Amino acid sequence: MSPLVNGHASSSNAPARAESHLNAADALSFLEEYPRGDGLSVQELMDSRQNGGLTYNDFLMLPGHINFPASIVSLQSKVTKNIVLNTPFLSSPMDTVTEDRMAIALALHGGLGVIHHNCSAEEQAAMVRRVKKYENGFITDPLCLGPESTVGDVLEIKAKFGFCGVPITETGGIGGKLLGIITGRDVQFQKPETSIKSVMTTEVITGRAGITLEDANNLLRDSKKGKLPIVDASGNLISLVARSDLLKNQNYPLASKVPESKQLYCGAAIGTRPGDRDRLKLLVEAGLDVVVLDSSQGNSVFQIEFIQWIKKTYPKLDVIAGNVVTREQAAQLIVAGADGLRIGMGSGSICITQEVMAVGRPQGTAVYAVSEFASRFGIPTVADGGIGNIGHIAKALALGASAVMMGGLLAGTTESPGEYFYHEGKRVKVYRGMGSIEAMEHTQRGSASAKGAILGSDNAATARYFSETDAVKVAQGVSGDVADKGSINKFVPYLYTGLQHSLQDSGVKSVVDLQAASRAGTVRFELRTASAQVEGGVHGLNSYTKRLFA
Ligand code: GDP
Ligand code: GDP
Ligand code: 5GP
Repeated sequence: MSPLVNGHASSSNAPARAESHLNAADALSFLEEYPRGDGLSVQELMDSRQNGGLTYNDFLMLPGHINFPASIVSLQSKVTKNIVLNTPFLSSPMDTVTEDRMAIALALHGGLGVIHHNCSAEEQAAMVRRVKKYENGFITDPLCLGPESTVGDVLEIKAKFGFCGVPITETGGIGGKLLGIITGRDVQFQKPETSIKSVMTTEVITGRAGITLEDANNLLRDSKKGKLPIVDASGNLISLVARSDLLKNQNYPLASKVPESKQLYCGAAIGTRPGDRDRLKLLVEAGLDVVVLDSSQGNSVFQIEFIQWIKKTYPKLDVIAGNVVTREQAAQLIVAGADGLRIGMGSGSICITQEVMAVGRPQGTAVYAVSEFASRFGIPTVADGGIGNIGHIAKALALGASAVMMGGLLAGTTESPGEYFYHEGKRVKVYRGMGSIEAMEHTQRGSASAKGAILGSDNAATARYFSETDAVKVAQGVSGDVADKGSINKFVPYLYTGLQHSLQDSGVKSVVDLQAASRAGTVRFELRTASAQVEGGVHGLNSYTKRLFA
């Protein structure tokens, strides 16, 4: 239908002059015929870049139509072919960002922590194990003791693992006949040499093997006990359910968990040297879900062969390969069997790769080029580096990434490794590039088990950025500090809620819809000139405070 001008069909699609207004009621249908839409499609945005690549700051998304509350916006997204996260946030495998504490906190909020490898394989595996043990459905390998044990044995378990709900079985292990249970209160005022038999509870409420987790949880809830041992028809211990896990599940509804075990998802990074095969074995034994192959230039024969070996040796383990910034690099890793790709070269906040190596790509262009290509093969991508605020996250997702990886933005939180200190009156924590000389030197001083292994695979910095044979180590990152951001428990919900509002402004109800609308050209973009960037920032004030959330 042609739009009407004062009741008559319009002869042209051009905007009407002031003296011949169109009917207001026809504004929407007029749009359909109006030849020039606002802004650019993502394809046009990328084609319009003339001779340069785009960064996140070079463009904006145009607002869409809002007919839903921000709170219903779903941020669920695939991070690999097989793993869906409720929150599309990953933490960088850096020794000032992700150890077990960060990985647990981020997974509880729906993201995924990738544990760094600037430590011995044993230390890294122990961190993975702590993440995997943190929350459970049925605990299928509970620590047990035999009837001849003492209170001292229980206290030792408490000191080492943090819990003391211990089933007592005839054999002292899972599968043995259940004789009783010990909890914290049973041993609270006892001497270490006291026999377990004299303090354990023998009247135990149990669940029968085959019970669903839901029914087991209900039984546990109703029993008002802390633990529910599950036994078979002969009374042998099969597994254990803990009340504290019910609480964790209630308190963190977004937590990213393996559907069957209810354990938190855990990622870890490794290099692609021969020694990394032994490292990976330990990580897999500790329960690793996703391995990230940590290389600044992923398109190498080492990585390709490593992916092929992993897919053969551990077919159930998901592999995020990278880093890549071009379609050609991506194609090689997709053919090799990657389940996800990590995109970015030189865009990290601590990174000097582009300056020193003259190799890399502006991150906006890299994310679009690789994601557009990888999506054709069903491979999700992670935009890694250069995420400085919520807007950057939204733009990375709109350009096709399924998730973002953050280093600097999560550094300086309570859960990041390292102690706070004061620098020029500000409370800060160290944040350093894994290609910095400081990170490389860390193994020398830091981990006892890795002493003398500076050039071996025990050192992430060496593996990723330096070559064993180099007489001179050329740094690709710097070391600095970042301001105290408080706890992840407040900071990640801020990022989450902000991102929901960003998607709402764009008129889409989910990350999946954002990607589809971007591909279809219905989410529109606009380039930002240098003065538009100035206009978009705070300007014209004598002074101001910038509080990001309350
Ligand atoms: P407890 O009462 O001292 O045993 O500790 P809680 O019940 O408060 O916490 C136990 C937490 O550790 C739960 O989240 C369990 O899932 C987890 N966990 C992991 N492995 C084990 C295990 O072998 N035994 C027990 N009791 N808990 C475990
Ligand atoms: P949810 O209730 O939304 O978490 O639904 P799910 O399908 O994930 O869980 C199915 C059942 O398992 C429900 O009864 C949940 O309460 C329970 N559940 C989920 N996570 C955990 C957990 O970490 N530990 C325990 N013990 N139960 C869980
Ligand atoms: P950020 O989130 O701080 O902008 O960037 C973090 C990302 O930078 C990491 O995930 C990693 O890919 C990359 N990175 C970490 N350390 C270095 C480094 O020393 N040099 C370079 N080039 N990149 C680094």
